[in-house]
Amino acid sequence: MTAFLDTLRALVGAAHCLTDPADTAPYLTDWRGRYRGRARAVVLPGTAEQVAAVVRACVAARCAIVPQGGNTGLCGGATPRADEGDCIVLNLSRLRQIRRVDAANNAITVEAGLTLAEVQAAALAVDRLFPLSLASEGSCEVGGVVSTNAGGVQVLRYGNTRELLLGLEVVLPDGALWNGLRALRKDNTGYDLKHLFIGAEGTLGIVTAASFKLFPRPRTVVTAWLGVASPAAAVALLSRLRGVAGDRVTAFELISRPALELVLQHIPGARDPLAAPQPWYVLVELSDTLTIDLAGILEAELAAALADGQVADGTVAASQTQAAALWSLRENISEAQKREGVSIKHDISVPVSAIPEFLDRAGAALESAYPGVRIIAFGHLGDGNLHYNLSRPQHGENAAFIARTPEVGQIVHDQVHALEGSISAEHGIGQLKRSVLPRYKSPLELALMGQIKTSLDPHGLFNPGKVL
Ligand SMILES: Cc1cc2nc3c(=O)[nH]c(=O)nc-3n(C[C@H](O)[C@H](O)[C@H](O)COP(=O)(O)OP(=O)(O)OC[C@H]3O[C@@H](n4cnc5c(N)ncnc54)[C@H](O)[C@@H]3O)c2cc1C
Repeated sequence: MTAFLDTLRALVGAAHCLTDPADTAPYLTDWRGRYRGRARAVVLPGTAEQVAAVVRACVAARCAIVPQGGNTGLCGGATPRADEGDCIVLNLSRLRQIRRVDAANNAITVEAGLTLAEVQAAALAVDRLFPLSLASEGSCEVGGVVSTNAGGVQVLRYGNTRELLLGLEVVLPDGALWNGLRALRKDNTGYDLKHLFIGAEGTLGIVTAASFKLFPRPRTVVTAWLGVASPAAAVALLSRLRGVAGDRVTAFELISRPALELVLQHIPGARDPLAAPQPWYVLVELSDTLTIDLAGILEAELAAALADGQVADGTVAASQTQAAALWSLRENISEAQKREGVSIKHDISVPVSAIPEFLDRAGAALESAYPGVRIIAFGHLGDGNLHYNLSRPQHGENAAFIARTPEVGQIVHDQVHALEGSISAEHGIGQLKRSVLPRYKSPLELALMGQIKTSLDPHGLFNPGKVL
């Protein structure tokens, strides 16, 4: 044990191999404080070569590895299992080089420890857009974003991480360093290996660098906050706006009144943009690389939608400050809910057209099982992806409700499954949904995943007890 730790210290430097409980504690629990694990050490290498050397040392010692980036994941994927202990946390935050920005190729190659916000800033510096945008972008890192196939608010226009990724550099479970950083749009030379590691949650390899697509920077952006009577009206409005503005619809977020109320209650300075409460809201953003009157186009269409009864009320931001205030209402929902207390969270997806049916069916099933349950629904309607979070009935006892998480989850996930949706549209499986995955993935899919895992990681050392 001491010899193993000495080897790790020699590889990364003693200052980057943490063993004191006061130093390791922040790395051994997750963002929500829901999981707490143990590890022999928290190791922070500074280069991809050091990552590979640490992996080889771990394989020789048969010590498991839990990869970690910004530790903002919401399913316990970056936290060692409480029953594990015989592992290290391998934190990639010190891999911070921007290796290449190629504006002419619309591509950027960055190391795993850069935050998403830093990648966005590097793109902006060459007058380009890196469109991946999440509320956690100041903390989440490239390696974590790739390993969770992160989405966010502009997936509707630009796609998930998978669609944005051109190439990867990965340390494999035998310690080999694979350089797949080709920044090509076209490459048909056999299996496209990078896809194996996207969304793999650190179970197949350790991402040390990634090449991403960049895009022309939008010159015109218009943001509006709209009140609608129902999710069905929101879905119809999305179709209407896309019919008029096409791919200029870059974000289309659905927010329920209870979700907004949490923000108004818990976030200082938050204020309701509309005069009267509405049952549902839509936050819509249109953008274009041309300097055109997008606000005029949106306002004309909204006037028609108001006349048709598709929209009940709304406001179009008149300045960037107003737009930012509208976005902060949406982005603070998770934080407001955290301040309200523990809730049972789901991040589901169904076809966009099935969102109203899902909300009806899941709401009715939950109300019948847990009368008065509080449903906080919001999310990326344009992607068919909703955060569907549940809190105790107004006068109920939350701990007792949270203890029912498996039964509550099954009610929600069964409805999702019946509508051919996914039980994890964004956050992944991690520890949280590992035990329920077999209920919703076919035996064939699980067997193929198991075969891939065994062939790449025969000793089962990469993030054990996660996903599979
Ligand atoms: C307020 C808030 C809002 C969020 N909003 C969104 C959202 O809109 N969309 C969305 O998709 N997610 C969202 N998330 C979830 C989270 O931010 C993302 O999943 C993010 O991509 C995780 O990045 P990270 O660096 O924090 O990864 P971590 O939490 O450190 O790790 C996540 C997983 O990736 C693995 N991993 C990390 N780094 C590596 C690496 N270099 N190589 C291999 N495996 C690795 C870990 O083992 C773990 O399984 C949100 C989270 C918060 C707290």
